[in-house]
Amino acid sequence: MATKSKSSGKSSKYVYLFGGGKADGNGTQKPLLGGKGANLAEMTRIGLPVPPGFTITTEVCTYYYDNRKSYPKALEAQVKNGVTFLENQLGKKFNSLDKPLLVSVRSGARDSMPGMMDTILNLGLNDKTVLALARYSNNERFAWDCYRRFVQMYGDVVMGVQKRAGEDHEPFEIVIEKLKHERHHADIEDTKLSAQDLQELVARFKKLIVERTGKEFPQDPWKQLWGAVGAVFGSWMNDRAIVYRRKYNIPAEWGTAVNVQAMVYGNTGENSGSGVAFTRDPATGEKVFYGEFLINAQGEDVVAGVRTPEPVAQLNKHMPAAFKELEGIRQTLEKHFKDVQDFEFTIEDGKVFMLQTRNGKRTGIAAVRFAIEMEKEKLIDWKTAITRVPAEQLDQVLAPIFDRNAVKAAKVIAKGLPAGPGAASGKLYLNADRVVEAAARGEKVLLVRNETSPEDLRGMIAAEGILTAKGGVSSHAALVARQMGKVCVCGAAALQIDYAAKTVTVGGATYKEGDALSINGTAGEVYAGLIDTAASEVVQVLVEKSLDGKESRTYQNFQKLMDWCSKVTRLQVRTNADNPEQTANAVAFGATGIGLCRTEHMFFEGNRIDAMREMILANNVEERKAALAKILPYQREDFVGMFTELKGLPATIRFLDPPLHEFLPNDEASQNDLAKKMGVPVQRIQQRVKELHEFNPMLGFRGCRLGIVHSEISEMQSRAVFEAAAIVQKKGIKVNPEIMIPLVGFKKELDLQVAVVHRVAAEVQKEKNVKLKYLVGTMIEVPRGALTANEIAETAQFFSFGTNDLTQTTLGMSRDDSGSFLPHYQEQEIVKRNPFEAIDQTGVGQLMQIAIEKGRKTRPDIKLGICGEHGGEPSSVEFCHRLGLTYVSCSPFRVPVARLAAAQAVLKEVKAGKGR
Ligand code: PEP
Ligand code: MG
Repeated sequence: MATKSKSSGKSSKYVYLFGGGKADGNGTQKPLLGGKGANLAEMTRIGLPVPPGFTITTEVCTYYYDNRKSYPKALEAQVKNGVTFLENQLGKKFNSLDKPLLVSVRSGARDSMPGMMDTILNLGLNDKTVLALARYSNNERFAWDCYRRFVQMYGDVVMGVQKRAGEDHEPFEIVIEKLKHERHHADIEDTKLSAQDLQELVARFKKLIVERTGKEFPQDPWKQLWGAVGAVFGSWMNDRAIVYRRKYNIPAEWGTAVNVQAMVYGNTGENSGSGVAFTRDPATGEKVFYGEFLINAQGEDVVAGVRTPEPVAQLNKHMPAAFKELEGIRQTLEKHFKDVQDFEFTIEDGKVFMLQTRNGKRTGIAAVRFAIEMEKEKLIDWKTAITRVPAEQLDQVLAPIFDRNAVKAAKVIAKGLPAGPGAASGKLYLNADRVVEAAARGEKVLLVRNETSPEDLRGMIAAEGILTAKGGVSSHAALVARQMGKVCVCGAAALQIDYAAKTVTVGGATYKEGDALSINGTAGEVYAGLIDTAASEVVQVLVEKSLDGKESRTYQNFQKLMDWCSKVTRLQVRTNADNPEQTANAVAFGATGIGLCRTEHMFFEGNRIDAMREMILANNVEERKAALAKILPYQREDFVGMFTELKGLPATIRFLDPPLHEFLPNDEASQNDLAKKMGVPVQRIQQRVKELHEFNPMLGFRGCRLGIVHSEISEMQSRAVFEAAAIVQKKGIKVNPEIMIPLVGFKKELDLQVAVVHRVAAEVQKEKNVKLKYLVGTMIEVPRGALTANEIAETAQFFSFGTNDLTQTTLGMSRDDSGSFLPHYQEQEIVKRNPFEAIDQTGVGQLMQIAIEKGRKTRPDIKLGICGEHGGEPSSVEFCHRLGLTYVSCSPFRVPVARLAAAQAVLKEVKAGKGR
């Protein structure tokens, strides 16, 4: 096509054309053309009605930032060529006073970032071409409507006329509202504004731009075009795009493409409109044509939530032919892309145009249902189905719902659209900043707004749920909420929000900021007050056992997905559980054993903490032994419960590792209380607390150091484990304990502890006359342990990576104190992700690799696991799979997420041709 560069080398081609059934690019080129550009090319190729256009590649964005915001030399000529291509396709001309060519300019990153970057429509209009457009279209109102929209968008996006800190409304919207009241004495709809009104708005907008910026709105379309292109590239580094990228781990270096496309108009009258639709329902996953449209409107109106749109099914009434065509397009899209599509269309005088398609964002519940049903329909196979559910999103299938009884007693005060499923309850705030502040104070918060804009992102992240008075299911609020897994109700029109008074009035009652509301994002209902939430259906079936699995489609879909995962997974998923109940939950979610029982956690509750404190505060061996004697029955009882739940699955039991600051009675009240219970003077306790005080408790007297100094502690724990094992085994239930020694850096530490374990095991077996099977291993959680793993493996029968401490000690960053600086590190991209959340693969990961290599040299069949919090985080699970670990271990409710991530890791490897 026209712009193919003569010189070789891919980087010299910066502009890719599409139109007239042909395209330079295709759907596979998302890294270069961005998602939107690649799919516009693909839709053009498969014969869908796409207005012609061209895409400026992401390489130009990278160049732009690498070269002080300048463009490669060859770009200007290629863009000119692109415009000529559009002129020839359409028989229109840029800046023509006869038939002016108007274009849209939109961003398009590799992964879609809904609402995060900027769009400009109707570019090419000026004081003269607007008159030509009016003549040519024979529609003066339409022409002025386009022009006012263009000036507004250009003023906002390119020239920066936006609401300032503390302002609640966009300045252009204030101008519109004022004119409506001056001329019509009411809040009329935008469509009721006359050509004269719109002409006046253009004049006022231009004045506002000069007032705010000191610059005139540019009349030259070329100047407009380059301004818009610069603004799109500039928007890649704006605040909200950065926040979004950080949340979704999109690297800054990907850059965005720019799409310049001939305009089509949904605002020419009653036989036109714009809409956004999904090939299936992205909230519930149901196979229905889902979406919404507005008659006589441009696409931005639908997404912005200014007018409340109609459901797409209603289009059949207004324009049956266009509806039928869209139904056909819906089928074509799914057959071609083999995934649920989220697409934008415009109908201009009855003719349908496609402006975008992309894989639809979906809730976790919908993702699972799409995957299961598309497999059933043979659109995809079961392995593809596994890859279709983002592991992180599976959490939503386990999200809470309102307690059935509590909700019966609650009062519905408004209804809106169900935009993000789940139940949320909290104090209402009307502004994102105040939401963030309240959440930081520990309050549960709902963000309530007329509509949300991308500026509200931080507030949306901090809120439990989002409630809006305007807007539809594809409004910004809805899209972003769904993706985040936030509960969201939008378009609850009965709410009257007064930003100045900070109140919400509905049904005669007024709610102030700080008052409680509850929302049901599955049903679209708003309630007064707080309502208890209850577990999801999957949890009701598997954990609470209060619902029959046959009654729940969500459960059945979930279970099928998990069964498929089991068919491919190599990595096992165990759980971190400290009591029988947690163990039972995790086993119900498919855990194949306990990967970490933190025995000190068995002493957080009730009287148990006293026994534990007595043990820590003991002045001598006798006192300690007396305290340990109190601890032993508790431990034994819990182990019996856990072994019973496990029915022979392995249980890694970690010996006590209580950082002293977490267990000492530090305040006066608890010191007095303990003194009373122990029958000793409080001064004695205070004195001992002082003696035990540490400057750096996380590096202090914890882990195996405790058992080394006081071997009676390890003795007691060994006894509790083996006595429990003997009890359960005698009932005919298999028991597989794996005793794990924490914080080992020296082989000798392990040797000493293991000797105690073996000695007590022999004693108990003899006393109880049983034969017990068990393993003894260690945690690898300090760098020295990893570096000397070959020595340690001489004694250890297994390693489990304690990546919480390994991260803390490798990075030299306190796991408890990193909150003060880590966010800055992420902001400045020193670390891409919080290393306590996702494994630092290059640093900590390297130590893991060394330990594995060295450990296997000594003991080729050594069992390897991970039990740090990373064990439930998908990218870390994938990493552990690549390292060849035997299992990951994570909290019970993360087990399904880890199982899915483990299965996906295999499929990714197979796809890359590296299957084991
Ligand atoms: C770890 O350090 O990763 C670990 C699992 O142990 P804890 O979190 O109990 O220190
Ligand atoms: Mg640890």
